[in-house]
Amino acid sequence: MRARLAPLLLLAALAGCTSRQPVSPRFSYTKGEFRAFAATLPSDVSVRALAEPERFLELLAGALGAPTGVLQLVDKAHGLDRSWTPSDLVDLSGGKLSLPKAGLRLRTVAMEDLLAMSDAAHTDGAVLTISSAWRSWDTQAALRAKALETQPREQVDRELAAPGHSQHQLGTAIDLGSIDDSFADTAAGRWMAANAWRYGWSMSYPRDRESETGYRWESWHFRWIGRPAAELVQSFFGDSQQQFLEFYAASETALRAKLRMPA
Ligand SMILES: [Zn+2]
Repeated sequence: MRARLAPLLLLAALAGCTSRQPVSPRFSYTKGEFRAFAATLPSDVSVRALAEPERFLELLAGALGAPTGVLQLVDKAHGLDRSWTPSDLVDLSGGKLSLPKAGLRLRTVAMEDLLAMSDAAHTDGAVLTISSAWRSWDTQAALRAKALETQPREQVDRELAAPGHSQHQLGTAIDLGSIDDSFADTAAGRWMAANAWRYGWSMSYPRDRESETGYRWESWHFRWIGRPAAELVQSFFGDSQQQFLEFYAASETALRAKLRMPA
């Protein structure tokens, strides 16, 4: 009896040891805790995270270092106050960017990656024309009121956020080129779809995600979320910025404690 039990006990002990080992020396997650954490993620995300736990945690730690507001969930259910205005807006003119009009502004924190992305696209033969950038609550309200004069509400709701619910108010979202479906099939549209994530930018409303995001496919609308978060979205969240930002909003506090990141 004893002889037959011994290997089983040994196996159980080994399994226990393995699950108590840290996933990575940098973080306090044990393998067992990480498996439990992964089980709370959407199933496809969980499979990818379990396949590369160390990379997943490294990118999460990077995302936790993003400047204030950069990963804030702003969608149909989560809004910003009328007075919410970024404090570090900067004018886009005066540099090498392609701009169809004056007065476009974005948060300073997004500028380094925007310029790097624009340069890289240019090198590959694509020109990124920035047609719209930061919008105040009032500008968004005016745009929506104007759209509602000529279009049915159901159509406007699929394309234009209510004031307080636009990512443009964050000062980290841009619309490119024609701001319509023809953008997808331009050199810039194809380049952005394939490469924006490498520069921390992410397509907010991808094709066939309307049930998730509340908006129809907008091939021209990108939000800067920083390079670690954009890589997470691309590699682990099936290109769903919405899914990632919802997960982040629900998990940020716990992750900070677990990954020993200051708030
Ligand atoms: Zn937009």
